[in-house]
This record gives sequence, structure tokens and C-alpha cells, in this order.
Amino acid sequence: MTPHDSSTHAPAGNSPSPAELPAALCEVAAFGQRAACGRAPAGYRDPYGRTVDYLRISITDRCNERCLYCMPEGYRGWAQRPDHLTAAEILRLVRVAAGLGFRKFRLTGGEPLVRADVVVIARGMAAIPGVEAIGLSTNGTRLAALAGPLRAAGVRTVNVSLDALDPALYRRITGGEVGPVLAGIRAAVAAGFERVKLNTVLLRGLNEGEWWPLVRFAAELGLPLRFIELMPVSRADVLTDAHFLSVTEAMAALGARERLVPVPDPRLGHGPAKYYRLERTGALVGFIGAITNRHFCETCNRVRLTADGKLRPCLGNHGEVDLRAALRRHTREADLAELLRTALAAKPAGHLFRENYTPCRPMVAVGG
Ligand code: SAM
Ligand code: SF4
Repeated sequence: MTPHDSSTHAPAGNSPSPAELPAALCEVAAFGQRAACGRAPAGYRDPYGRTVDYLRISITDRCNERCLYCMPEGYRGWAQRPDHLTAAEILRLVRVAAGLGFRKFRLTGGEPLVRADVVVIARGMAAIPGVEAIGLSTNGTRLAALAGPLRAAGVRTVNVSLDALDPALYRRITGGEVGPVLAGIRAAVAAGFERVKLNTVLLRGLNEGEWWPLVRFAAELGLPLRFIELMPVSRADVLTDAHFLSVTEAMAALGARERLVPVPDPRLGHGPAKYYRLERTGALVGFIGAITNRHFCETCNRVRLTADGKLRPCLGNHGEVDLRAALRRHTREADLAELLRTALAAKPAGHLFRENYTPCRPMVAVGG
């Protein structure tokens, strides 16, 4: 998706109804066949030489917000509860992944904090040998109450989505209230997580006026703020070129007021963001250009597990491998590991976001 490439979006009128979404475009079978042909060379090295050691686990496809860019209006495609992996199933897969060399894990969703056993899951993961880092991605609405218990359970880092500070605009974008989110962010800082980051999706015509207030808010709390390009990972009306805004444009706008000094800081994580320090404010800002950065996928180190137990080697490809079916057949650990390896072997070189990609599940059902 670029401002010059309108072909990346299916015209709104052609979109399948939300009820049609899940099965419509998935290529699970075809992907499974491709996956079965190859083996990852060294357990967790993919065919393009990338070390994949990061598993992002969606523990629910439910959410208490309705972000314009994540969940199609009127979405009803929720998985049934028995379809969700249980805490025990998630922990079993984490054990297998850690055995293959995965070291970083993230709890995400949907909104992970709406799941009642999130602290139990985090605690169980932290006790698994090989699990070095557990992160959490959240909308922050329930963080005020849960920051302390999650930190005590072993979660080390937290990313909070924050697209606007203005209450009315926040409500317009997410359907929720910003007050509890701000309280959640402060609670996370107080709880002593190793890192708390804020994430803002760039939305042309919606939140440009919020960038400086967000930068100042982040700087006051000493938190990195990352600006993220809108990706075509949902079917919402907002995913149009009219709303797309590149990180280059955002950098130019911020840089026109204050010099951006590059910060090659490994302590910020080995993620996809490029970081800068704003010279006067002192704010640390990151930019994630998933669409405009042509080298974005070359250092990809992650795969995703959906709440219903499908392993997704790439956010911007339809391929999935069904781990839940294997889990519920009481598959041996060695065979689960082999399934994971075949999925890794089929991790594609890059996403299809610039090639008319139409997701088979919206972002809320894949996991961020
Ligand atoms: N509910 C949690 C949250 O909002 O942070 C975790 C799940 S959410 C799917 C994870 C991340 O994906 C959030 O930072 C959200 O802003 C981002 N996201 C969702 N849809 C997106 C889109 N279409 N383009 C870019 N980022 C998106
Ligand atoms: Fe929910 Fe997060 Fe998606 Fe917003 S971005 S709808 S908070 S899952």
C-alpha cells in the first residue's frame, strides 16, 4: 500500500461481508503442501537465512475496542471458545518452540487482557526453560489493574497502542475511552517493566494533529513512541490510500520542527522500527514502514500463533499451519516440533502488502 498504489485495496464495494471473511481466501491446504516439502535447516533458521526466534501469541480474537483499521465494522467472525487454545495448549506449544530455539514471546490478540487467565499463561511461560523474554501488546484499557500482576508473573516489556490523546478522537478511532489507557500506561511505568513503548498508527486525515501531543506525552514519561504505517490487514473502510500516510512523510513533518538524530540503540529491541531522538524535546521516536520500506522483511525474526491455534509464518501472506488439530490429536512433542519446523521452512521472503493483498482474517483475528 502506498499513496501511489491504489491497486492494493479491494474497492469497498467488492469486499466480502464480514461473515464471509474467514474461509473465503485462506490457502491453508496449498500452504501445507508447500510446507511439507521443505525443512528449516537449523531448527529455527528459515530458508532465507533469517533467524526466527520470536513467537507472537494471540490468546484471544476478542477485543473491547473497535479500531477502525483492525476490525471491520459489524465483524461477527469470532472464534467459538472451544476453538481457542487453552492455557495448557499454549504452554505446550511454547515449550516446543523454546526447544527449537525460540527465545522471545509476546502475548497479543485481539486484546489479550480480556482473557481471564492471561496472568496464568504469562506465569507458565516464564517458567519454561529457554523463554528469555515475554512481551505484551495491549490497548491499555485494562492495564491499570493488571500491570502489577503481569510484571510479577514475568512479563518484561509492554507495548501500548495509543493513536490519539484527544478523548473524542480516541473514541472515534478506537470506540473506547482514553482515560483508562493513560492510567494503564502510568501503571505500567510504575510496575517496573523493563520497557514500555507506545504505538501510534499513522492515519491521514485523522491523527496528524495528535503527533506532537503524543510526542510530548511520551517524552514526559520517558517512553519510546513508534509511528506505524497503516497495513491492509483488515477490510475496514479506513484501509484506503486516502488514509495511508508514510513514515517518510511523518518524519519530514516532525523533522521540520525539530532535528531527528538517528539512535542505533540495541536496547530498544531488534524489531522493525528505526529510532531517532528529537533534538529539543528529547523524545525517542521510532518509525515502522512496513509498506514503504522495501527491505522491511529482510530481517523478520517472527511468526504468529492465532488464538485458534494456526501458525502464521507471515502477517502479509495467507499461509497457516494448523497446530491445534495436532495438539488435540495428542501428537507427540517431537512431531509438534516437526510441524513447527515445516512451518518455518515455508516462511515467505516477504509480505504481499504491495501486491493487492486481501486478508482472509482481519487483524483482530490474526494477532498483532
Ligand atoms: N489489542 C492490542 C493492541 O491494540 O495493541 C494488541 C493487538 S493489535 C492487533 C496489535 C497492534 O496492531 C496494535 O499496535 C495496532 O495498532 C496494530 N494494528 C492493527 N491493525 C493495524 C493496521 N491495519 N495497520 C497497522 N497496524 C495495525
Ligand atoms: Fe482491538 Fe487492538 Fe485491534 Fe484495536 S488494534 S481493535 S484494540 S485488537
